[in-house]
Amino acid sequence: MHKIEEISTINGLIDRIFSYNPDTDFDLLRRAYAFSKEAHYKQKRVQGSPFIEHPLAVASILTEMRMDGATIAAGLLHDTIEDTDTTVDDIKGLFGDEVDFLVESLTKLGKMEFRTTAEAYAENFRKIFLAMAQDIRVILIKFADRLHNMRTLEYLIESKRQKIASETLEIYAPLANRLGIGWLKSEFEDLSFRFLEPRIYGELVRKVAKKGEEQEGYLEEVTEIIENKLAEASISGKVFGRVKHYYSIYQKMQKQRIPFEEVYDVLALRITTDTKSNCYGILGLIHSLWTPVPGRFKDFIGAPKSNMYRSLHTTVIGPKGEKVEIQIRTKEMDKIAEEGIAAHWRYKEKHAISEKEDKYFTWMRDLIHSQKDLPDAKEFLAAVKGNIFPDVVYVFTPKGDVIELAQDSTPVDLAYNIHTDVGHQCTGAKVNGKIVPLRYKFKSGDTVEIITSKGHKPSRDWLKFVNTQKAKARIKQWLKGEEREKGRALGEELLEKALRKHGLSPSLSKSPEALEAAKSFNLKTYEDLMIAIGYGKLSALQLVHKLLPESAEVEQAVKRESRKAPEEKGIRMKGVDNIMFHRSKCCSPLPGEPVVGFVTRGRGVSIHTENCPNLEAVTIDTDRLIDVEWVEDGKADSTYSVKVSIFTLDKTGVLADISAVISANNINIHHIDASATTGSQAHFNLILELKSKAQMADILKKLSLINGVLEAKRVRAA
Ligand code: MN
Repeated sequence: MHKIEEISTINGLIDRIFSYNPDTDFDLLRRAYAFSKEAHYKQKRVQGSPFIEHPLAVASILTEMRMDGATIAAGLLHDTIEDTDTTVDDIKGLFGDEVDFLVESLTKLGKMEFRTTAEAYAENFRKIFLAMAQDIRVILIKFADRLHNMRTLEYLIESKRQKIASETLEIYAPLANRLGIGWLKSEFEDLSFRFLEPRIYGELVRKVAKKGEEQEGYLEEVTEIIENKLAEASISGKVFGRVKHYYSIYQKMQKQRIPFEEVYDVLALRITTDTKSNCYGILGLIHSLWTPVPGRFKDFIGAPKSNMYRSLHTTVIGPKGEKVEIQIRTKEMDKIAEEGIAAHWRYKEKHAISEKEDKYFTWMRDLIHSQKDLPDAKEFLAAVKGNIFPDVVYVFTPKGDVIELAQDSTPVDLAYNIHTDVGHQCTGAKVNGKIVPLRYKFKSGDTVEIITSKGHKPSRDWLKFVNTQKAKARIKQWLKGEEREKGRALGEELLEKALRKHGLSPSLSKSPEALEAAKSFNLKTYEDLMIAIGYGKLSALQLVHKLLPESAEVEQAVKRESRKAPEEKGIRMKGVDNIMFHRSKCCSPLPGEPVVGFVTRGRGVSIHTENCPNLEAVTIDTDRLIDVEWVEDGKADSTYSVKVSIFTLDKTGVLADISAVISANNINIHHIDASATTGSQAHFNLILELKSKAQMADILKKLSLINGVLEAKRVRAA
């Protein structure tokens, strides 16, 4: 963890500053220390120790942020004007304009009175922002001050503790996060959590420690596998085990309504390396070792967060089948993730800020400018909230209640937030009196009225735009119930039809004999049986065969059915037989690629590549996924249609070269069309008949080597 030991002597402090900035004016620091000690001479801390301990600790925290001499001197002096006879002129005369400016700004920030009204928050924010606008170091000293007060909060009386801890959680932690100072945000949150919810906090600390012990060996094993793989590939990288901070675990449990035991990323791994391209290289290695969990990969290097955070995140199914979260970043990115604006400020001293870095903090400047036109504290709050809490929006009900929602929430999210039935029956919404589409994204301050209609049902389309976990979960739950009901009804229909066809009574489908037969397929209830038939996991004919084992006619029919067996198509299902297969058009899987079967209603099983984005979108009911595997590696004669897209310079003859290369490799072209695209480029769409993944890789490589070809790639149609 980040926390470095607090230093409690001025000499210790000077030693540490010397280690990172030997040019500091140490005389200034010694004088500031002596002055502060003298000024606070009569004061004691609540626990009875000399007051100077506090400014010293604040200065120590500032050295953790590797601040400059003036900032640390101001840290030593920060309470002198507020608490003692010291005047502004004293500070200015003795320590100069720079230190005086910092101390004066901090004094103006003052002891912020915490009230629960929005106006009080607004006023506090406004003060902080005004100070920050002039010099970011003011807020860093304020952070250090607050952090030491939080670290020693146990000595205060209960009511004061609650007040300070709430304020820290609601104002300081989000602000630290916004400024990108990861370690400070975590420590603010955990300390607040500890004092606000002592019982839950204690319980969580115990559970995390236990889990840490249990999983230590496992993480070591995973670490070793990764390290070996990195060495093999000659990529530099260091693997660290990491424990999520307590408050973020607690938040996850609350948000997803799950017990501690179900939070899988309590322990996670972080890999640091030297270069950006190494990050992607390592990601590739990790994904080749273990299957990534779909939808869990996030590229914050390509698209950094607004607080400068950069990293790759992925979750994989580890060697024991457990989900493991892995973060990959350069050492530099790691530093920025921990130190945020503090690191940024430091660099500024040595060389100019790059334009790219600078853009991360434009939100701050914009805010400062806009506040000039917003004299009303309430209006200012609205402006600030959009910036400090970019992840949430606040909307009003017609009665004036405020509801907090995740950013990009829609009327459907709000409806489910109110009640599951309101969600299911939501047909529209009015925002500020006007009808809006269901996919409308709320802005803070919108007044929203949800329109419902009895008997209205959720739609699968909603999943494409809702943004809250709650709404997603409720919609999926409803769809799953409906899918099962449809599957059950279809199963019943198919079975009754098959029974009739072979001269049996359709009522036999619900007989004890049918249930007995179902047991030989591992199905325990009538419902399971009907769903299995409806989903196509079991054919109705197979069940009839169980009921009429003596019938030659049924025997024949079963044989005919199994002649269409999947093995002819090169794919075999694990554990189940006699089902129609087709390769899905969206991802056109090839032999050699990992595949998954999806049981459609009435159209057999569609085969998708494991990472097909469509698969994730359609799979509400995981009961409908089945394990399948290839029975050939492309050595057989079967070929498969694959869409390929080729971009070329629009020069004559290039298409002839493409055709020549393809036919020289004994590959059939099933279809080809060309469209001249922008300027001098041309674009060809081809459908090739290929045998395997290896053959595809080979031909794409050969195509891309043709003179005039810019890119040849496989296309996965949506
Ligand atoms: Mn203080």
